[in-house]
Amino acid sequence: MKIVGIDVGGTGIKGGLVDTDAGGLIGERHRVLTPAGGAPDAVIAEIARVVEMAGGEGPIGVGLPGPLSDGRLMMMANLDPGWVGLPAKDLIATATGREVLLVNDADAAGLAEMRFGAGAGIHGVVLLLTLGTGIGSALFVDGHLVPNTEFGHIEIRGKDGEDRAAPSVREQKGLSWAAWVERLNEYLGRIDRLVWPDLIILGGGVSKNPDKFMPLVKARPPIVTAKLQNNAGIIGAALRVAETR
Ligand code: BGC
Repeated sequence: MKIVGIDVGGTGIKGGLVDTDAGGLIGERHRVLTPAGGAPDAVIAEIARVVEMAGGEGPIGVGLPGPLSDGRLMMMANLDPGWVGLPAKDLIATATGREVLLVNDADAAGLAEMRFGAGAGIHGVVLLLTLGTGIGSALFVDGHLVPNTEFGHIEIRGKDGEDRAAPSVREQKGLSWAAWVERLNEYLGRIDRLVWPDLIILGGGVSKNPDKFMPLVKARPPIVTAKLQNNAGIIGAALRVAETR
């Protein structure tokens, strides 16, 4: 199937037409900046612009950075809090003129990695973490997604895990890679003691630079970097549509 996937992040809104059988983009990847503040109206208008650039027809999959229920976000850490409770699915459908399926952004990235990337063919409990503005999580049991896990918000010494260990914190605080990986290792140890996964896949922007940090990562379970990197969110949003049809 050819389905448009959109990935809404704290800094960019990315999208493209996806071949869901091959697990790749057909043609160009489109990207616009996320409007400052991330207010729903402004972001939805930009989503509509990216959908138009991506073209295609039929339903679209949209990855949003928060847990979802009934077409609405239940919590919002990295965009405007006005998203919480808003009928996002309907508003995006009206703005784009397309049928819409919403998925958590990390769940989307995880789906893509499990089907076509580092998790392909792997059974047992697999945890994918997207390391970017925040920390997103996607949990799989024998390839099946347990949606809406929010392990980025596990508390570490009185603070949200993502506020200690997301790569954005490294940039904001000007930390060295080694200092940041110390934080990441603490975070991974904490998650491990709660979930005991068989494999952890690290995705998100930093997975483009594995040499900078992977040699320093220490954790009990095997850890690998994502293969699809920044396109995983787009591909996974489209896959979610294909898999629910
Ligand atoms: C959100 C998650 C999201 C992650 C990555 C977190 O702050 O709560 O839902 O997956 O950021 O964008």
